[in-house]
Amino acid sequence: MNNDIRAAILAISIVIPLSVLVLWFSENNNVTGFTEKHQLKVLASFYPLYEFTKIIGGERIDVSVIIPSGIEPHDWEPTIQDLQKIKNADMIVINGAGLEPWITKLVSVNPDILIVDTSAGISLLEKNNHVFNNKIQNDPHIWLDPVLAKKQIQNIVDDLIRIDPQNADYYQENANAYNTKLILLDNKIRNELSICVKKDFLAFHDAFSYFANEYDLNQNTIIGVNPSEEPTAVTLQQIIQKAQDLDLHVIFTEEAVNPRVSEVIADEIGAKVLTLSPIEIYEKNSDYIKRMEQNLSNLKEELCS
Ligand SMILES: [Zn+2]
Repeated sequence: MNNDIRAAILAISIVIPLSVLVLWFSENNNVTGFTEKHQLKVLASFYPLYEFTKIIGGERIDVSVIIPSGIEPHDWEPTIQDLQKIKNADMIVINGAGLEPWITKLVSVNPDILIVDTSAGISLLEKNNHVFNNKIQNDPHIWLDPVLAKKQIQNIVDDLIRIDPQNADYYQENANAYNTKLILLDNKIRNELSICVKKDFLAFHDAFSYFANEYDLNQNTIIGVNPSEEPTAVTLQQIIQKAQDLDLHVIFTEEAVNPRVSEVIADEIGAKVLTLSPIEIYEKNSDYIKRMEQNLSNLKEELCS
């Protein structure tokens, strides 16, 4: 057998089985979808978006959170390990509205990544008294209004479908089922607050503007947009005066802060301290809806008594 014939037989014996194999794989993928050959790797910037994305994507996506679930997202900065995570991801879900100023730096290591800005299409409020570098800053706390959370969820669904159209029905059905729960939550908040006479509450940080807008309430706050701030002695005195004027019975605190400041104010006016959660960090054995319901129950202590 000359060398040419031997080479031809070798080529046929390798190429034919290989092409059968390739054909089999591609047909298989056509039938079973994107996730069989590569489970979509999705990152969510912080806890509530992680929960929303997981509910929509179920077992068909591999989702992980960037900002560790016990750390509040204001002022967080990415590490080298976070840059590594983003290198291998297909999609990153962010809140937008200025909550993730680090996003440009992070995505520079993976320019192909799809960024899902969940605030897209939502009309944003300005942060109270916050102008930075001559630019007006937006208030990022949209997820605390269940009506807006539904829009955030639809933004996640739309982009998941864009990148993985074969699972479109699956993603949309999961989102619809969850949206039904959000509508029930919204109705519950609306109904239960409708019988309350009072409108004013004192939150710890400036997280409830969208919520207050949605349910026609007045948010007052102990500190500004960043929960790690501390009020000055003068501010504290002004807040105590305001709490007295508004005849408040409850001074709110949050999970991620020292309750001392709220306790000082409460002691001065004979009020009690309860938690009004901005749902910025994870809480064991709980979820977004349970925590919103707990917030409602605690808010009613102020507004309906
Ligand atoms: Zn916040």
